[in-house]
Amino acid sequence: MEGLEFNVAHLLQSPIGSNTRRDILVREPFRFEDISVSELRGSVELLRTNFGILGRADVASLIDLQCDRCLEPFRSEIRFAFAEEYLPVIDVSTGRPVQSERTDETFFISPKHVVDLTEAARQHLLLAVPMHRLCREECLGLCPTCGTNRNVESCRCSEETESPFSELAALLERPDHSA
Ligand SMILES: [Zn+2]
Ligand SMILES: [Zn+2]
Repeated sequence: MEGLEFNVAHLLQSPIGSNTRRDILVREPFRFEDISVSELRGSVELLRTNFGILGRADVASLIDLQCDRCLEPFRSEIRFAFAEEYLPVIDVSTGRPVQSERTDETFFISPKHVVDLTEAARQHLLLAVPMHRLCREECLGLCPTCGTNRNVESCRCSEETESPFSELAALLERPDHSA
């Protein structure tokens, strides 16, 4: 993804330990699975290692979630950091294929010597999103009986079953006692 791709041809030809810092910036909205991301912003340090390039990223994301309790959409800033090593598939100086140990989790530098952080960012952002997504800690949620959003207005359902004073409270709130 643009904003997460970095050409490392020059860095691959630099001595081990060489590094460079680049900005991460994605302002086009996109989705990572069920998460709507409206912005990614941060920086990455790209470090030449024995085998390839280590990317160490610090990212702040703006994401749109749905509250687990009241079901309203809300925007949240999630910060996450990760470090992943990227291995070359093509030797930058000879242009020949590189044999490297591969597992399903291995990240590769593209044949055009581009490190693309998109997949790593996806994995680490999904890990950073809280399990319980609440618009705010004290969100009151929906009434299970009538479905009213209790952040916006109150209903009488829970008072009637839970509070011993509910009848009195209802009487006091009612403007016309004689009705
Ligand atoms: Zn909520
Ligand atoms: Zn209710």
